[in-house]
Amino acid sequence: MRYLVLSDLHANLQALEAVLAAAPPRSYDCFLVLGDLVGYGADPNVVIEQIRNLQPDAVIRGNHDKVAGGLLPPETFNPAARQAVDWTIEALDAPNREYLRALPAGPLVVDERIELWHGAPDDEDFYIFTIEDAEHAAYLLRRPIGLFGHTHVQGVYRFPGESNGVRAMRPDAEGRIALPKEGRVLINPGSVGQPRDGDPRAAFAIVDTDAGVVDLCRVPYAIATAQARILQAGLPMSLATRLAVGK
Ligand code: ZN
Repeated sequence: MRYLVLSDLHANLQALEAVLAAAPPRSYDCFLVLGDLVGYGADPNVVIEQIRNLQPDAVIRGNHDKVAGGLLPPETFNPAARQAVDWTIEALDAPNREYLRALPAGPLVVDERIELWHGAPDDEDFYIFTIEDAEHAAYLLRRPIGLFGHTHVQGVYRFPGESNGVRAMRPDAEGRIALPKEGRVLINPGSVGQPRDGDPRAAFAIVDTDAGVVDLCRVPYAIATAQARILQAGLPMSLATRLAVGK
């Protein structure tokens, strides 16, 4: 089974189109979206419509979807995110707002192998950045493979590592990691629309359970166009400039 895993699209149409061109429907069996379809970027409606058209096998909400869908007040966001979500709320067409409102919260069990959530299994708004946080999530995992996003940082952890704790796994030069035959693994595909791990290319992952590998993928996209869209929309300049550096 090949799973295409996307997270944190953030209304970046140019990044999404590059990812979908690199991973066309015939290249996977199952399509999973880990939340934050909108927020920060300038094309929330088209991005939602593209995802809806592809009929994902599972899609959950992220914190930006929750606020843009009107389920949570925007006051909890920092100023740039707040400005972006206020703009998004205005820009969203009613059916797309309804779609965001209806997205389920994680964690969500997909099948006998896969579970997914946005932030952490016990808190969709929590950022898993540290080994300790990954270990906590690994204990809560109900399936061998856990998929998560929210940090916009691509990476894989295995549990247990050589000792008993969690260990970060390093990909080879092609971005490939062999899935451990036993134990649990946590996979963050990175962010499609606003990478923050120092690599500005759009990020996603393909998990192949038959081959026993996960591919951490990066594709270049038309960053200048996405930036121009953000500035045309009157969104904060910082949301455009960070795309070029992937921070
Ligand atoms: Zn996000």
